[in-house]
Amino acid sequence: MSFSMEIKSELTRMESTDICCKKYELAGIIRAGIAVNKYKGNPRLLFITENASLSRHLFSRVKELYKNSPDIFMLKTRRFRTHTVYRLEFTHLLADEMTAVLKNMGISLTENYEKLSYENIDIMNRCCKRAYLRGCFMATGSISDPDRFYHLEITFPNLLLATEYIDLLKEFDVESRHIVRKGHYLVYLKEGQEIVDFLNVIGAHNALMKLENIRIMKEMRNQVNRIVNCETANLEKTVNASVRQVDSIKFIAETNGLESLPENLREIASLRLENPSVSLAELGQMLTPVLSKSGVNHRLKKIDSIAENMRLNKN
Ligand SMILES: [Zn+2]
Repeated sequence: MSFSMEIKSELTRMESTDICCKKYELAGIIRAGIAVNKYKGNPRLLFITENASLSRHLFSRVKELYKNSPDIFMLKTRRFRTHTVYRLEFTHLLADEMTAVLKNMGISLTENYEKLSYENIDIMNRCCKRAYLRGCFMATGSISDPDRFYHLEITFPNLLLATEYIDLLKEFDVESRHIVRKGHYLVYLKEGQEIVDFLNVIGAHNALMKLENIRIMKEMRNQVNRIVNCETANLEKTVNASVRQVDSIKFIAETNGLESLPENLREIASLRLENPSVSLAELGQMLTPVLSKSGVNHRLKKIDSIAENMRLNKN
């Protein structure tokens, strides 16, 4: 199941919803998700979804709140792959009663019944604002697989609905933006933290926990990678330095002989030849008395510069 589907079925299973909120959640679903077309000359209101639990939820909410229910049709489509699409039709609800219900939700049909027009919806309670935000997400929202990247969007049929949604989210300190794509208005969030905050606002707490866990895992993985990269870089530096030191020492041995070096340098030179892969600190530990890392470094640098001078004189 996709993460979007998972969140939506969690939301349809929410138990503790007050009656005031139920109304606004439904308004959110309807305002974001309903469409109108003409069938045999008559206007037909449609809500189409691939989500079985959402179609059941919408059906029972309409029935509970308005004592009437839409017709549900199940269609099998073969586009890309076989899947089921649920089509809810509100045809017979287009009577005066339904018009009043829609009016209540800030929706009206244009004169020729071909388009829906929207007014801003007035929501008093904070609980109902959350419910409305949730409803819109249930209808047309989607979220990317958080293992890959963070992206959440909700599609609206017009600008009024999109900006209204953005303003409502702002009241909960969630900053969203919108873009226009193929005549639709997409409100989106791109940051992991914003998406976590959003899921909190709409009450998707299981999804929120799951997302937080993924974020923590990702952060830990990044930290481990950073440490490994850093250690690899240090190791490379040590190996390169050691190769250079051994070169210098061998060059001195072949040219003037190691006896030409003062006692303290000769000692560290032969230790380095015998132990090309140990660190400076470890080399220091092998000496009696023990020499510090910087002391070892100082002596090896001196050997490097002696070899360098000898090379110059040779040419
Ligand atoms: Zn409420």
